[in-house]
Amino acid sequence: MQSEPYLPAKIFNAQNVTTPRVMVAPQRYIQGPGVLNQIHRYLSVIDVGRVGILASRRGMAAEGNRIIATLKSSHIDSVEAIFDGECSLVEIEKHVAALGNEKLDCLIAVGGGKPVDAGKSIAYRLDVPVVIVPTLASNDAPCSALSVLYTPEGANDAVEFYPNNPAMVVVDTEIIAAAGERYLVAGMGDALATWYEARVCLNNSKALTPIGARPTLASCAIAEVCARTLFEYGQAAAQAVIANVCDDALERVVEANTLLSGIGFESGGLALAHPMALAFTQIDAIHHDYLHGEMVAMGTLIQLALEDAAEAAEVAHFFARIGLPIHLAQLSLSPTDTTAMDTIIESALKNRNAHHMPMSVTADKLRAAMLDANALGLQVAAEAGDAAYRRVHSR
Ligand SMILES: [Zn+2]
Repeated sequence: MQSEPYLPAKIFNAQNVTTPRVMVAPQRYIQGPGVLNQIHRYLSVIDVGRVGILASRRGMAAEGNRIIATLKSSHIDSVEAIFDGECSLVEIEKHVAALGNEKLDCLIAVGGGKPVDAGKSIAYRLDVPVVIVPTLASNDAPCSALSVLYTPEGANDAVEFYPNNPAMVVVDTEIIAAAGERYLVAGMGDALATWYEARVCLNNSKALTPIGARPTLASCAIAEVCARTLFEYGQAAAQAVIANVCDDALERVVEANTLLSGIGFESGGLALAHPMALAFTQIDAIHHDYLHGEMVAMGTLIQLALEDAAEAAEVAHFFARIGLPIHLAQLSLSPTDTTAMDTIIESALKNRNAHHMPMSVTADKLRAAMLDANALGLQVAAEAGDAAYRRVHSR
C-alpha cells in the first residue's frame, strides 16, 4: 500500500541541474468500435486474475456489467466498487479501505471524468496498475499520470501525481458515439488549447510541464497534429455523434481529444488557456452550467488575444462552427460584472501556468485580453451566427 505522495517536480526539476526534457505516456492506448468486448484479450498483456471495477451506479449498470461478463468468459474475477459523488480524498480512502484486502491485480476505472481521476488515485494507493475505460471524449484526463482532486463539496482542491501513467486506456468509440454531442465538442475545446499552450512552453525556456520538466519536441508535434485534426475533422465528428455512427472523422477526433491532447498537455505544458478555465470555476454559475472544455475554449481565445496571435479569428470561427463558447455571455458572464471579472483575474494570476506566457501577465493585461477576446467573439458570432452553440446547449 502506497502512502507517500509522489512529487515529480522534485525529481525532474532539481536545483543547479539543467531541467531535462521528459515525455510520459500511457503504456497502451486502444481505440475502436466495440473494443470493450475484447478487453479480456488486452488485459492478458498485464496478466490479471482478479480485477476491481470502479464506476458510478449508472456506469456499472452499463459498461461495468459488460466488462464483468467479458472477463468472466476468460476466467477473470471482478470486484465491483460503486463510485459515488466527488473525486475527493474521502471517497478515495473509502474505496482503498474496501478493496485493500481483495488482492486485486489491477483496477479498471470506467466513466466520463471523476471516476477516472479517482481510479488513478485508488490504484496508486493499492499499488496496482490502472486501466481506464473512458465513456466520454470530453476531456484529456484518461492518459495522464495525474488527478485533480476536489473537496467533498466539489471545489477544486489539488493535483495529485503518480509515478506511472495508466497501463492501458481502452476507448470504445461506439460508446462515445452514443453520448451527447456536447461532450465531444467540449473535448475539442480542451484538446485545441493543447497546441497553443504547448507552443508557448516550447518557446519559453523558463516554462515547465506539469511534471516539472521541459517539453519534448515529440509532445509538441503531437499537440500540433491534435489541432490540425480538429480543424479538419471536428465538425464532421460532431455530425457523426448526432447521427450516432462511428466513422473515420469521429475516430480521428476521439484520438485527438483523448490521446493527442493527453500526451500534449502532460508532456508539452500548459500556458494561459487552462488557468483561465480553472479561474472561471470560481464563479458558481459557470462552474455548475459549463463543462471544463467549454471554459478552456474561452480561455484559449483569451490567451490568443493576449498574444495578439494571428490565429485568433480562425480559432473563434472554428469554435462557432462546432458550438463552443466564443464570448463571455456564452459562459453566462457579463464583462461589466466587475466583481466576477476581478475574481476570475485574481484566480488566474495565482496559477503558475499563466506565467509561462512570454510577456509579464498582470491584472490589467488579463482584463484587456478578456475584453479583446470577447469583442472578437461577438464579431464572429455576428458574422457566423450561433446556431451550433444553441443546438449543443439546447439538449
Ligand atoms: Zn483540460
